[in-house]
Amino acid sequence: MDDLLQISRLTKQFGGLVAVSDVSFSVREGEILSIIGPNGAGKSTLFKLASSFLRPTAGEVRFRGERISGLAPHVVARRGVVRTFQETTIFKGMTVRENVIIAHQLRANASLLGYYFASSVARRDEAEFGRSADEILAFLGLDGIRNDPAVTLPHGHLRALGIAIGLATNPTVLLLDEPFAGMNHDETMRAVEIVLGVRRRGVTVLLVEHDMPAVMQISDRIVVLNFGEKIAEGTPAEIQQNQKVIEAYLGV
Ligand code: ADP
Ligand code: MG
Repeated sequence: MDDLLQISRLTKQFGGLVAVSDVSFSVREGEILSIIGPNGAGKSTLFKLASSFLRPTAGEVRFRGERISGLAPHVVARRGVVRTFQETTIFKGMTVRENVIIAHQLRANASLLGYYFASSVARRDEAEFGRSADEILAFLGLDGIRNDPAVTLPHGHLRALGIAIGLATNPTVLLLDEPFAGMNHDETMRAVEIVLGVRRRGVTVLLVEHDMPAVMQISDRIVVLNFGEKIAEGTPAEIQQNQKVIEAYLGV
């Protein structure tokens, strides 16, 4: 498998604090790669560096060989490196389906979309993108509530809608930060199936996650951070037997 995303010697300092320290690894085309580690290990910071929401203090991120670190997040998203949408970026007054329809535009136009503009775009693009939006909604089990205003959705559905919006932008790499957080066992198992389904659609997945059973089930490879440094990288089986990882994280 080819390397899609290359993380090279990434360092991020916040004042005197080194949140991510000289971390290198690659994400291969078609894989699910998870980043794990204790609280404060630097996972979210690394995630934000990989999606260009943060600028590194040193090092770089390359996508298909081209440097993307330092570019604006919407420029990176347009190239195909997309992080799922947080609840705050979902258009709450629009329906579930309208949110997915306008996501096609987000890839081209992420920085320009205002709320008002968005709903007229959704109406305009209905004919062109309605079918693919419906297909994505069915895939995520949201078809029954597609005409509900996003504002009425419970937390779990909002999370699924965030993934739907991400998928509608037709990403090459989808980045997910703790997609299973706060979910019960059944919800997690469903979400695991969704992420596996995303990969079956040919999307490469980079995931930060705390839920170890889910991580071990879903990941092709895992990168382990501790105090900002990469302490291990390998398959779930390798990681579970790694002494450093057990001491720093899994053993507790
Ligand atoms: P994790 O996601 O693994 O729990 P984070 O990447 O969120 O860890 O944080 C790593 C370290 O960087 C922590 O010590 C955290 O307090 C610090 N940190 C994260 N973001 C900032 C920020 N914007 N400003 C200052 N310190 C930060
Ligand atoms: Mg975090």
